[in-house]
Amino acid sequence: MNISVNSENMTLKGDSTPYLTYNALNDIPFIRHAFSTRLGGVSQGVCESMNLAFGRGDDRETVLENYKLMCDSAGFEFESLCGSVQIHEAKVQKVTKADRGHGILKERVFSSADALITNDKDVTLVTYYADCTPLFFVDIKTHAIGLAHAGWRGTVSKIAVNTVKAMNEHFGTKAEDLVCAIGPVIGKCCYEIDETCAQQFMALGEIDTTAVLEKLSGGKYLADLALTNKLLLKSAGVKEENIVVSDLCTKCNSELLWSHRATAGNRGTMAAFMKILY
Ligand SMILES: [Zn+2]
Repeated sequence: MNISVNSENMTLKGDSTPYLTYNALNDIPFIRHAFSTRLGGVSQGVCESMNLAFGRGDDRETVLENYKLMCDSAGFEFESLCGSVQIHEAKVQKVTKADRGHGILKERVFSSADALITNDKDVTLVTYYADCTPLFFVDIKTHAIGLAHAGWRGTVSKIAVNTVKAMNEHFGTKAEDLVCAIGPVIGKCCYEIDETCAQQFMALGEIDTTAVLEKLSGGKYLADLALTNKLLLKSAGVKEENIVVSDLCTKCNSELLWSHRATAGNRGTMAAFMKILY
């Protein structure tokens, strides 16, 4: 496939089914991760061609075929996938081998799980995006991992902080041992919000919100979701040098990535994948 990506910190891999990886996470030998694109699947119509969400118009078999293509391309076991249940809340769900297939090959059991964490190498975490913020967590000491979905609601509900806390409670993770990656997400360049939404960002006590909001005329603001999550991770004790932020805006790169805003909601959905190898 003749596509390229202009990023300083991410690399496009895969051949007929491309996916993005973080260079910083590729350097960690005990994990495997991937972020899908909108390319290299079998969906037709508005979801053409890589859509990983059920319920966006694709029939079930088409979505499952897309999962198989992603698994073959990026090296995940299809049966090991465990999907999140994203309702724009901030609940973190620990999963294990017993949760393989959840929400993908099997019925959903959790009612709210915008973040998934595990220290079990027999399950692959899967979370979903189309402009919202993906957060990747890797504990380089205990070999535990997490994935979180942070739209603006999840961001201001501090799902980033909740995930650090949950990894500490379940796995003994220390924040200073975490390597985190943020994005690809809609950038401040393209993410306009209204006053009511902006006030939710301003109410965050832990961080300097003047850095994450830019006031426009007419009561509108530009908001930096990635930076907000980065500052929240720092407030939870993650080292700045251990946090990488993707330089790809989903809306500016809407030929490669699904963007809810670029498509006015007529779109497929991307997924982040991560598993522990040892
Ligand atoms: Zn942009």
